[in-house]
Amino acid sequence: MFIGGAAFGSFAGYSTRRWISPAAATAELPGQAVTAAHLRSFRARADQITDIKVCLRPFRAAGPRLDAERFGDKVVIHNYGHGGSGWSLSWGSANIAVGNAATTQQKKLAVVGCGIIGLTSALIAQRAGFEVTIYTRDLLPHTRSVRANGSWTPDSRIALTEQAGPQFPDLWEQMARYSWATYRDYLGQPGNPIMFLDNYSLSDLPSQARPEEGVDPGQPTFASTGRPQQSAEFAAWPERIKDIIPAAVPISGSDNPFPGLQVRRHSLMIYNFGAYGHLLLSEFFQAGGRVVIREFHTPADFKTIPEHTIINCPGYAARDLWNDQSLIPVRGQTAWLPPQPDIAYGLAYRGAAMLSKSDGVMVQGFDLDHLGEMTGVGNSFEHPDRTEAERAIGIFADLFDRFPAVKG
Ligand SMILES: Cc1cc2nc3c(=O)[nH]c(=O)nc-3n(C[C@H](O)[C@H](O)[C@H](O)COP(=O)(O)OP(=O)(O)OC[C@H]3O[C@@H](n4cnc5c(N)ncnc54)[C@H](O)[C@@H]3O)c2cc1C
Repeated sequence: MFIGGAAFGSFAGYSTRRWISPAAATAELPGQAVTAAHLRSFRARADQITDIKVCLRPFRAAGPRLDAERFGDKVVIHNYGHGGSGWSLSWGSANIAVGNAATTQQKKLAVVGCGIIGLTSALIAQRAGFEVTIYTRDLLPHTRSVRANGSWTPDSRIALTEQAGPQFPDLWEQMARYSWATYRDYLGQPGNPIMFLDNYSLSDLPSQARPEEGVDPGQPTFASTGRPQQSAEFAAWPERIKDIIPAAVPISGSDNPFPGLQVRRHSLMIYNFGAYGHLLLSEFFQAGGRVVIREFHTPADFKTIPEHTIINCPGYAARDLWNDQSLIPVRGQTAWLPPQPDIAYGLAYRGAAMLSKSDGVMVQGFDLDHLGEMTGVGNSFEHPDRTEAERAIGIFADLFDRFPAVKG
């Protein structure tokens, strides 16, 4: 609930708004001074875990593969390798792939893969007038895609600055802007497939005390080893799209739900996998799309597809299927607690993140060991680690022990 902002929904009014819990709202009449802001605590308990999901981010140092190649009598347009940014960049990346497909002047199009990249490629192709068949081993609900965190992270392990080269930032910006605009079309729909959450980033240190890092030329790098070695090698261009992405604002004084901690709040776009996945698959079928459940073992299997033009979206599986050794696994894990619809926020603290989604409360240890962007790099162990899940949940249990706020 926001109180005190005349221009709700506009950037101009954002900094004047304050978040207070429903409990605080009933205790204080609008217009009166609110002396303490509370976040209702969520039930951060390891004995409530319903699922632990593990995923490998399909990372390529040069960024996603988007080129086209002739393969026998087929044209294969690649669309894979989106690291930790696949959901965020999906629409923009699909738009580039479909643009390449349009140059073949075919009416029928095959898409291999039905993760978020394959499905958005299929939908953009339908909107461009193609008749589309998806060939895939799994539909979206069973892909690596739904083992993600599911929020707007367009430059999370998407590329290394040096290896991506000077042209890539423009391409990245194009993908990010196109995706952001398309996601906005899905806001406000029944079931909230896409929505915004207030996300609080907490820190024990003042922001100016946090160390700034650059690549250390005296240490190993990707160039010297063929593997990322330092967090600072990873690319990020938040400045390029700051005109459309809500800024993080410091929360202080009586507005700070966690007095003594440094708190920043921003409006974060999140994806509710169940509602959003169902909506996208429904759209695909309603537009006449076909799905063929099929597993490919080698590129030669593509020659048996009747369509001449193929958009190839196998994600990390391209490492084996297309023998693309440039794909580097970046392991990540999410733990899920039952949905808590009365909790409407996300938190990030001490290397752990939580988001309250309609699918459940997601808790992720994204940097529990203070490795920064190097967390999970080169790790292809795709099995749940319950200790890691419990550590991440424990960070929030401790937080709300120190700041009991309103009991969940
Ligand atoms: C822990 C974690 C958190 C993340 N959080 C975010 C986030 O918050 N925001 C964000 O933007 N991104 C996030 N990501 C990254 C994102 O999940 C990926 O970039 C994205 O899911 C990649 O999608 P994809 O469609 O390319 O691959 P996949 O989801 O792996 O889909 C591949 C498809 O190809 C099919 N396929 C594979 N091999 C074959 C074969 N041999 N024959 C036939 N079909 C095949 C599969 O069945 C599947 O349908 C996260 C990743 C992880 C691991």
